[in-house]
Formats: sequence, structure tokens, C-alpha cells
Amino acid sequence: MSAAALTSSLVTWFQHNGRDYPWRRTRDPYAIIVSEIMLQQTQITTVLDRGYYTRWLTRFPDFTTLAAAAEADVLSAWEGLGYYRRARNLQKLAQTIVREHAGHFPSDPAIILSLPGIGPYTAGAISSFAFGLSEPIVDGNVARVLSRLDNDATPIDTTAGTKRLWQRARELVLSTADPRAYNSALMELGQTLCKPTKPLCSDCPVKAHCRATEPESLPVKSARTEITAVTERVLFLHTAEGILLEQETGSRRTGLWKLPALPDSLFDKPPAVLVKSLYGITRYKVTLWVHDGAALCDQAWPENHRFIPTTELASTAMPSPYRRALDKLLKDRVFELES
Ligand code: SF4
Repeated sequence: MSAAALTSSLVTWFQHNGRDYPWRRTRDPYAIIVSEIMLQQTQITTVLDRGYYTRWLTRFPDFTTLAAAAEADVLSAWEGLGYYRRARNLQKLAQTIVREHAGHFPSDPAIILSLPGIGPYTAGAISSFAFGLSEPIVDGNVARVLSRLDNDATPIDTTAGTKRLWQRARELVLSTADPRAYNSALMELGQTLCKPTKPLCSDCPVKAHCRATEPESLPVKSARTEITAVTERVLFLHTAEGILLEQETGSRRTGLWKLPALPDSLFDKPPAVLVKSLYGITRYKVTLWVHDGAALCDQAWPENHRFIPTTELASTAMPSPYRRALDKLLKDRVFELES
């Protein structure tokens, strides 16, 4: 069957079954790009149900406002979403739009792709969702759907696999008169029916076009990411001045505040543990040990350390693992003592 028949079936299905998200009701490139960047590594439910998207648009309603905002405010509004580089990149993008495009987002896909922090997926998403252009998108969901439709076992993380996916995505988007609805439909199909496990093929609007014989075996990936376990030791020091925090430098979390690292001199004989928790970041599984710093209140601390009054903690941008540990320490003072 033709590409046009496939895309038409998908668009018709989406018109009746597509979920109603705020970013699907707008053609404002700014609102769309905020949703795309937020959803890069965060679940839709977090972005929507916990109010991040609407709060962000209220606080920074356009490129001009975001471009002029203090970085601390930007990071604070992003707190809880993690991967703070996204917030910084969003602000850099806003500054470029204001400086080089008079605050107006360009509608030429080649210029969109040349903007800082915009890769091929985001360029395709903005081109189609904001401007209705016939530009392809390939993300994890789309790669899965396309691999299955074509029963294609080329590993999707190889140059050949990536090239085939983008070619196929372009061929399909060019066959529809409604690229905005079609691209949304393709993603929606991957999220709701063509799921990684147990795809709901009997309900699928394009099952007549699908050549997958064992859908769950697709897509194929060549590389497996190894998870590395690491240990992080930090201090909890609470004095009359506040809580001792350390401002991060030279990392993806630059500018954020965290519980200060345990000084090297204490590694051999660390103070008692107050809290132990686990968190994951990229390919690391981190065990976070929070040690009692009470005996260190007279120590001199480096410049990037500061006692922050507890009344200011809520407005201090802090990665979630430290925020959770601090909340636990300050709220119930019931510590998980471990040696
Ligand atoms: S028929 Fe099944 S495997 Fe094929 S696209 Fe639909 S949900 Fe995916």
C-alpha cells in the first residue's frame, strides 16, 4: 500500500484518538519548543500534572522574557525536572532569537537546525508543529514504529540505521497534506499502541500496512549502555546561620546548589551517616551518603560554600537528589543511621 494511504489512516485515527495536550493547541513556536525541551528526558505526566509547563509559560511567557531572566530564576523554575543543561540551552536559544532574529522564531527549517541546542528531531518538530511544514521527526517512539512497519532489523543506533529512519520518515511526511497532525499521530502511535512491549496491534490503525512479524523484537540496537555504580559522600551541617551548601562549578549542574562534598581528609574516617539514598543520572547509579557535619562548624570553607538560611532553601535551585535528602533531614529528623 502507498505511503499516502498509510499516513492518511494514521491522521484519521489521530483526529479521533489523539490526546489533548496544551502544546497541541498552539502554533506558538516558543510554547512548542518549551514542551519539546521539557519532554526530552521527562515524562509527560511530570511536565503536565505537576504543573511545570504552565508554571514556566506563566513565568517566562516568551523568548524575550526568558532571554532577560536571571540564570538563578531559570534554574529554580526548572528544579525537579533534572538535566539542567536543557534549561540553560533554552535560555541560550532565547537570547539568540532576541539578538539575531528580533525575538521572532525563524520558519526556515535550515535556519531552525542551525540554532543552538536544536538537533534534527527538535527542528522537525518545530517546523511541523508550529509552521505546518513537511519536515520529518525521528525520536525513540518514531524509530520503533518505523522499524516495525518496515520489519527492518537494521540497528537504529548505527549510521545506516539512522539514515534509513530519516529517509523513511521524510518519505512518509511528504505524502500527507497535514504534516502537523501526521507527526503528532506517529508519536502518539508509538506512545499508546506500538509500545516497546506488548504492542496493541489489533487496535492499530496502520496494521494493514505493517510488515512486522515479531514486533517486540524491533527495533534492534547494537550498543547496550552499561550502568556504572558510583558513591557520593556529602555533608549535612546546620548552624544558626543556615544549612551549608556548595555551589556547583564546571559541571552540567553549574550554578546549582548542593549538599557540600565530604572533605577528602575525612574519607578514611567519615562521620556518621544521616541519610542514604539512591539516584540515577545518565549511565550512573549513584549511592548518596549524607554524613553528619556537626563537628565541622568551625572549619573554613571554600568560596563556593555558603550557609543558606532555611527560609531561602525553597527558592535555591538544587538538583532533586539533594533536595529530597534535605527535606528528609529537615522534616522528620528521623535518620537512617548506618555505619
Ligand atoms: S501493527 Fe503492531 S507493530 Fe505494527 S505499527 Fe501497529 S502496533 Fe506497531
